[in-house]
Amino acid sequence: MAPEQSNRLISQEARARILVVDDEPRLVSSLASLLRGCGYDVTEANGGKHACELIEIQRFDLALLDLRMPEVDGFAVMAYLENQQPECGSIVISGESSFTAVSRALRRGALDYIRKPFDPEELIATVKGVAGKQSLLKAHEHIQVRLEKSEALHRYIVNSSPDIVFMLDADGRFCFINSKVESLLGYKPVELCGKHFRHILDDRDVAKGIYALNAPNINADNPRTLEIRLKTRGSRRATRHFEITAFPIDPQPWTYNSRTRGGGNGQNASYYGTARDVTERKEAEAFINFQAYHDLLTRLPNRALFKDRLELAITHARRARQQLAVMFLDLDRFKVINDTLGHAMGDRLLQAVTHRLEGCLRKGDTLSRFGGDEFTLLLPSVHGNEDASQIARKLIKTLKAPFLLGEHEVFVGVSIGISIFPEAGDTMEQLIQNADIAMYNVKARGKDSYRFFSESMSIDSTNRLHLERDLRLALERGELRVFYQPQVCAATDQILGLEALVRWQHPERGLLYPRDFLSLAEETKLISQLSEQVLDQACKDVTEWIRSGHPELRLAVNLSPVEVEHPRFVETLMDRVKENRFPPGNLEIEITENVIMNDLEQISQKLRELADLGIRIAIDDFGTGYSSLNYLHRLPIHTLKVDQSFVQAIRSGEDDACIVNAIVAMAHGLKLEIVAEGVETDKQLEYLRTLGCHQVQGFFYGPALPAAEISKLLAQSTVRAAVIG
Ligand code: C2E
Ligand code: CA
Ligand code: CA
Repeated sequence: MAPEQSNRLISQEARARILVVDDEPRLVSSLASLLRGCGYDVTEANGGKHACELIEIQRFDLALLDLRMPEVDGFAVMAYLENQQPECGSIVISGESSFTAVSRALRRGALDYIRKPFDPEELIATVKGVAGKQSLLKAHEHIQVRLEKSEALHRYIVNSSPDIVFMLDADGRFCFINSKVESLLGYKPVELCGKHFRHILDDRDVAKGIYALNAPNINADNPRTLEIRLKTRGSRRATRHFEITAFPIDPQPWTYNSRTRGGGNGQNASYYGTARDVTERKEAEAFINFQAYHDLLTRLPNRALFKDRLELAITHARRARQQLAVMFLDLDRFKVINDTLGHAMGDRLLQAVTHRLEGCLRKGDTLSRFGGDEFTLLLPSVHGNEDASQIARKLIKTLKAPFLLGEHEVFVGVSIGISIFPEAGDTMEQLIQNADIAMYNVKARGKDSYRFFSESMSIDSTNRLHLERDLRLALERGELRVFYQPQVCAATDQILGLEALVRWQHPERGLLYPRDFLSLAEETKLISQLSEQVLDQACKDVTEWIRSGHPELRLAVNLSPVEVEHPRFVETLMDRVKENRFPPGNLEIEITENVIMNDLEQISQKLRELADLGIRIAIDDFGTGYSSLNYLHRLPIHTLKVDQSFVQAIRSGEDDACIVNAIVAMAHGLKLEIVAEGVETDKQLEYLRTLGCHQVQGFFYGPALPAAEISKLLAQSTVRAAVIG
């Protein structure tokens, strides 16, 4: 014991409070003065009863007790003292040297005894010895309590840490882990102690964890920090994310403490570490990341991620000298459904559409929601157009079946524009833009179909802006012209009808054809104004010819899908007809099959109204769209116009020529009139004649011409075939 500490004990012992008890007052006071002389704080009690009264009100460190007293004897006082102040020791004073009484007192807890009559020196030595031992014991107890408090405090600090605190031995086995591991991962600390830390690492992170521990140059000031996944206990196999901070340590300071509490005592610890649960942060990060790159409604990649993937795919395709395809998909009729059934239904429809589209894709393809009802699709490796066509057909087909939204059954179609790298552009922007342009071309041609981008579709964007401005001006200034292509009876060479085809006399660029501006007119909604002008002009011109001896002359006009789908289509058309006093029976409108199929219910209703008013209806480009023969006999159709491609196939003797045979046979069966378009050669005309198809139109008889030229032609009794080279 250090000298300083021993001094403190002696001084404590000197101040010890002593109760002296005897039934002989003289003896009490002599004992008391003797002890006071040694510096003790002495209280005198005359007899056992008095002693008990004092014990009740005062605290003592030591009692000197006479055993034999009347009424309340020394044993009784000892018992009382034991009960009231157990920490107070006692020395018994015995007049009898009787061994039995003393040994009985000692058995009951007396610390020592003094024989009467006493020797003052012996008495003082005994008291001193007992008081000294007493205070040592107290000091020990005091230290013990402090130690326990301190340990409890540290344990509290360690276990209340928001982090897992652990120690590993040199082999990586846990030798201490705080109780936090139980609330975070479900393991009891004791079950982990002795186990290798690999036991709780996610399998994917084992190598990373082991490597981190062996990294050189790590210490308390330069700890190793890493993010790792830990497995929770049990079968759920869930993992949580932790940020681990660990470093090697000098194991000396705590190996002395062998009291095991909680999860191990840290014996042989070589590493100290903490593990902070960062799962929520990680999940939030992952969500934010997902949100930044995905559309939350459909969970598809968004525009940003799509562009990123496309950029990568282009780099790859360029290096590997491969092709890739970008598709631009736009849902047909989505807006109508969204407006009539509400946004919630619209959202459900988009999800359902996404689900079906995804079913058509291969691994590695990226479908993204580009915005609204637009989707883009990246096919990172295609071999030629046929590959892409096949997917496009699949996509169109998968959306054909109706969608069930609550009790509503709705139909949507999709228009797809395709651009192929490198033919249709070698940058990301070009490929997307060109696919978009191709998609608009599909829309303009009656929707629900697909088209590959071709140069003729592209008008670069500044040009486009100029053109749009010019087109507005053209409508104001009346720069549009109507040309007429004769529909001729091949048997008599007589003109039966005239198809009105719009032209634009551009002040700088000369005569422009529909392919140069029609899709622009549709996109910019200028089409209705354009149509109105064409129709007015055509009605005027044809009325004149009708009055001048051609009462049967038919006027055929083309209508774009945008117009036909307009809710007030019938009224608008009839307004024009009435205003121009044009005989309805001489008017034939040309629409494509796809327009009809887009909304069979609505369109057939409108067509019926028109037919009832005497207007004739022709299906343009017949054979290139749905060719769903089902609707033909249910609709008031008068004429089928065989598409040019089938007529031109006659020349080359391709298999497509058979299609003409089929169409003509069918038209006859359904008692429909038939007009063959694009007739350019004698041979084609001859072939059509033998099939019994007599109405023809094409360069063989001449291209579309201005009204003045037509007047001249009509003045002759027949049209002479124009010879074309
Ligand atoms: P379409 O209705 O199929 O018209 C026939 C197209 O074929 C016309 O082209 C015509 O000039 C061309 N053509 C006629 N005979 C021959 C031939 O023997 N050989 C070849 N190769 N072509 C021939 P155009 O005038 O350039 O019109 C293109 C398309 O633009 C038309 O296709 C029609 O869908 C649309 N269109 C034209 N005028 C109007 C209009 O006023 N309103 C609307 N909505 N669309 C129109
Ligand atoms: Ca036409
Ligand atoms: Ca046509």
